[in-house]
Amino acid sequence: MTQYATNDQLAQMPVDQFYQQMGSSPAGLPTTEADQRLTTDGPNTIQQGKRTSNFKAFIKNFTSLMAILLWVSGIIAILAGMLELGIAIWAVNVINGVFSFWQEHAAKKATDALKELLPTYTTVVRDGKTVQINANDLVPGDVFNIQTGNRISADARIVQCESLQVDESALSGESQLVSKQVAYHKGSGKYDEANLVYAGTIAAQGNAVAVAIQTGMKTEFGQIAALTEGEKKVASPLEIELNRLTREISVIGMLIGVAFFIAAILVVHTPVAKAFIFALGMIVAFIPEGLLPTVTLSLANGVQGMSKHHALVKELNSVETLGETTVICSDKTGTLTQNQMTIEHIWLPGQQYDVTGEGYENNGQIKRGNQPVAFGQNADLDLLLRASFLDNDTQVEAPKDAQHGPKIMGSPTEAALQILVAKAGMKTHEIQSTNPRVKEFGFDSNRKRMSTVNQATDGTKTLYTKGALDGILALCDTILVQGRVRPMTDQDKTQIEQANQAFATQGLRSLAVAYRSVTDSEDLNQTADQLEHHLTFIGLTVMSDPPRPEVYEAVKRCHTADIRIIMVTGDGPTTAKSVAVKIGINGENVRIITGDELAQMSDSDLETAVKGDVLFARVAPEQKYRIVKANKANGEIVASTGDGVNDAPALKQADIGIAMGQTGTDVAKEAADMILTDDNFASIVAAIQEGRTVYADIQKFLLYILNSNVPEAVPSILYLFSGGLIPLPLTVMQILTVDLGTDMMPALGLGSEKSEPGIMDQPPRPRNAHLLNRRIILKAFAWYGLISSVISTAAYFLVNYRYGGWPHQALASSGSVYLQATTMTLAAIVFCQIAMAENCRTKLVSVFKIGLFSNHRINFGIIFEVCLLALIIYVPILQGIFNTTGLTTLDWVVLATIPIPVFLVEELRKFMVRRHLSREGKSPAAVK
Ligand code: ATP
Repeated sequence: MTQYATNDQLAQMPVDQFYQQMGSSPAGLPTTEADQRLTTDGPNTIQQGKRTSNFKAFIKNFTSLMAILLWVSGIIAILAGMLELGIAIWAVNVINGVFSFWQEHAAKKATDALKELLPTYTTVVRDGKTVQINANDLVPGDVFNIQTGNRISADARIVQCESLQVDESALSGESQLVSKQVAYHKGSGKYDEANLVYAGTIAAQGNAVAVAIQTGMKTEFGQIAALTEGEKKVASPLEIELNRLTREISVIGMLIGVAFFIAAILVVHTPVAKAFIFALGMIVAFIPEGLLPTVTLSLANGVQGMSKHHALVKELNSVETLGETTVICSDKTGTLTQNQMTIEHIWLPGQQYDVTGEGYENNGQIKRGNQPVAFGQNADLDLLLRASFLDNDTQVEAPKDAQHGPKIMGSPTEAALQILVAKAGMKTHEIQSTNPRVKEFGFDSNRKRMSTVNQATDGTKTLYTKGALDGILALCDTILVQGRVRPMTDQDKTQIEQANQAFATQGLRSLAVAYRSVTDSEDLNQTADQLEHHLTFIGLTVMSDPPRPEVYEAVKRCHTADIRIIMVTGDGPTTAKSVAVKIGINGENVRIITGDELAQMSDSDLETAVKGDVLFARVAPEQKYRIVKANKANGEIVASTGDGVNDAPALKQADIGIAMGQTGTDVAKEAADMILTDDNFASIVAAIQEGRTVYADIQKFLLYILNSNVPEAVPSILYLFSGGLIPLPLTVMQILTVDLGTDMMPALGLGSEKSEPGIMDQPPRPRNAHLLNRRIILKAFAWYGLISSVISTAAYFLVNYRYGGWPHQALASSGSVYLQATTMTLAAIVFCQIAMAENCRTKLVSVFKIGLFSNHRINFGIIFEVCLLALIIYVPILQGIFNTTGLTTLDWVVLATIPIPVFLVEELRKFMVRRHLSREGKSPAAVK
């Protein structure tokens, strides 16, 4: 491992010596050296201290309430002389525990895999070139850029700095921003060297170039992380509800079990141990043991499904909240639109130019009428182009090949300006080298502009400013018209505003450009607001940013799904309205509230306003927080997008904070619950659909596992209420077989059922809605359960009728007829469950519509349960344990026909309900 001097020594050295110590230079490390260091120093990653061991997680599955019950029951069975039964109960317990552990493990693997999908990038200089690398590959000696919103990737010394303010709270706990600079200065605190930055801290403002000193676990942050516990897991609302549900149902099951236990002793005079085992059957039948792991796995599958739709969810519980979303507060640029800026026009007072060529192709031209115009032909235009190029932080790299577009490092707005100057044939290298930047005030979405001061070779300095027209116009007192600077009149202002308005109505966004000479006596260390004054207005660059094609459909789906969209943009009101109306978010009469108006509004006025057809334009990111809050106060479940540092409060305030994966800052990504890898609004809607689907699937799964409780319980009820005249039609081991054996796989399949048609045609689920609602309980117990009970009990009596001489003779309580009858009860329940698995797949839509065999997991589950049943029926050793015997061909024919009526009867019911609803003019989707 490479050894370097201490941080403090490195911070104090002259820069040349520091580079030498680090084996680096301002041109960065050679790639080969960087690769070598990556092998010796290891990846730049942080591992948290302790993690829950797999062993602990494994054991947890054997210490749940039901597992303990089964352990104890096994002991009692063995003590009572039923050794085989005792061992079988334990075996079932072990299989169930292992299955649950596997489900949890699969869920964890699925969520862990997501982390890999979202690497953090760092811009470094290697071999003299600026390149983007995965932050994990950063090594000591790497020269890297720090920009507003970055989480700093390594402990590093600053070599260039522009107003850098760092939030070191992750390290020091201090929330105040710390100013950084190139010169060494040591304060009194631990992390107080002014020219050092630390991994894990955040660049809240400004930018810098730094050289990495330590990476990974050797950084200060890494050393602290090594000592701290792994993240504590907080139970999600769904988990809490599931735990409550499991507890409640378990208590009911136990009460029933106890009642049966007493009744078996008193009414049927069963021996105590046998009565206990009998009661246990009832309890196990009721406890929904597989609930939590199956739900966790469904959520994890949902999260994986979302990642395929470009939405990375950080926590499983967000899946649930997504399904409840009622309002989406969405940015415009890049989320609803493509962020493919193309300059369409240039407007100078009294002159308009059109620009040809699509997107980032720089094969177009600037034209005045039909006449192409190049750089050098018109002084006013030249100045605008020069300002657009110099007051610009973005780099556009030529495309690698014909398949790839140019690579943009920076903002698409500025990239469009870079392409514009290329189209004009401006010699950019020359302009850059003869006008070095001496001061910059980077783009700030609050100020909505950016300025630089550049010094020409003759020593004269010029301030260039570009940004939102309203802000810049207020700073201009002169105007450049046909090569002459003169005072700006009200008429000029009106003319500029009218031109801007005309472009905005077409959905185009304009950027105003202005300048002024800076005298030698002016102090460049003043703030931006102190320097930006007495500007001369040059003109407007007007760009298009077409809506994303998928957005139209996504907006429609939000409307049918009763999800409201509120556009919150930094762009101007007219452009915002034009885009919003075009893509169908708002109507022509939409109320537009600007940032300035919003600042004057009271909270209650805002709460009223957000209920209507409204959009917010020219807002500062901080104001988004209030909009989200007002919606929440109205009881809405709010999803909000954001990408900048200042969006973080709104992202945290929202029920679902959504950060942009491509253009978002690290800070926004960390504050968010979900990250869009394609920055696309349509992906939010796809994620909401997935969220609704997962929740519906969990309900389907619940319906399935609950319904088999009824046919499992009915035999015991018959036994008790007949005072033992009807021997137990289903033994305890057989109940365990259905509950913990044959039901497992189809249930798992239901947990991954695809979206049911119409899922986005219904309103969002209310937040207080219970997972297990009345509809599911009724359907499980009074409909599906009833059908299965009738059929399985009939199967039991049928065998007795055929072989036992019943009803003239008493029902056998042992012997081959009894064995065959109980086997038939068990098999009939399993065959009913085959149809139930299909029935549970939709609420009201015909299963034929979604395809009877379209869920492969269910198909596999059905094959699995029939095979398991066959093994239990035909393997001699299992016959002994499960009280089964071989069945006749006729029995199998009867069994094979069972699923058909069970399925068709439910299809008929679904059809009648659909018909009834359509007669009443209601959508089937309205059924909860
Ligand atoms: P949204 O908030 O929907 O993403 P937006 O991208 O237009 O929309 P901001 O990025 O906050 O919002 O920009 C606000 C305004 O700032 C823009 O309308 C534009 O006038 C100006 N602006 C945007 N980018 C730059 C830039 N690189 N330099 C100078 N001004 C800019």
